[in-house]
Amino acid sequence: MTVGRILNAMNDQHAPVDFWTALTRGWFGRCPRCAKGRLFSSFLKMKSHCEACELGLEPYRADDAPAYFTIFIVGHIVVPLVLVVEKYGNEPPLWVHALLWLPLSVALALYLLPRIKGAVIALLWVQRIAAPKPATGRLDPSA
Ligand SMILES: [Zn+2]
Repeated sequence: MTVGRILNAMNDQHAPVDFWTALTRGWFGRCPRCAKGRLFSSFLKMKSHCEACELGLEPYRADDAPAYFTIFIVGHIVVPLVLVVEKYGNEPPLWVHALLWLPLSVALALYLLPRIKGAVIALLWVQRIAAPKPATGRLDPSA
């Protein structure tokens, strides 16, 4: 444990949260620390802080990870289904595939994306992986 983590733990007035609890809270769009506040103000827009416990959420940026994991999971669900239908469905025409897999892919992605984003943010928080503070605009900090 680093000195920074010890200081963070000493300043933290909340009960410690284990990895899976934080991940579950994030999956359901709740604050990973208190589970009372919401992570998102709209579909995927993160709040700047938790309204219940004032946890600052801005340093925890998920970036492209939720999209990557969502594509990975949706692909691993849909592609085997496409192959099964192609093999055991007497090779249906392409419009049947389009009618089946496009709506399923979109629905799965829309369902999973906010949940995975919440889980990624919770994972970043529980591991204390925060983005660096924005630059001050000065090139030389000693100047
Ligand atoms: Zn909170």
